[in-house]
Amino acid sequence: MTPTLSSLYQRIILDHNARPHNHGPLEGSTHEASAHNPLCGDRVTIRLRLDGERIEEARFEGDGCALSRASASLLTLAVKGRTAGEATSLAADLARYLSTPPGTSTPEEAPLGDLVALQGVREVPARRRCATLPWEALRAALGEEPPRR
Ligand code: ZN
Repeated sequence: MTPTLSSLYQRIILDHNARPHNHGPLEGSTHEASAHNPLCGDRVTIRLRLDGERIEEARFEGDGCALSRASASLLTLAVKGRTAGEATSLAADLARYLSTPPGTSTPEEAPLGDLVALQGVREVPARRRCATLPWEALRAALGEEPPRR
């Protein structure tokens, strides 16, 4: 049986929730910020260690739903090795992508890689913030104001 694309994405989310990458404290972190989603009760803290502009390490801690944990786990993998500027523009691309209607292709999609697994929230706007929360914390940690909602 061939899994549908959306069930494949579902599995990626469940997998990252069950076995999150880079979960726990970060020794010698240089940047950190927390974000809270009162709608769902998600809390996430993102910690980074930068060498100059380059993100050497990214880890997260927090309590939240499967979506927020999976998104945080995907975030740590996606931003490691990028510059702060690249990471914040990735956060912006993801936020734009997740607010487009389901089934549409956007120019932001291409560089997102595994992050497209979060696209299920396009069908459930109430859950969108679960997926974007860790990215809000990332932008705050890097000193960028989150966009107005
Ligand atoms: Zn949530």
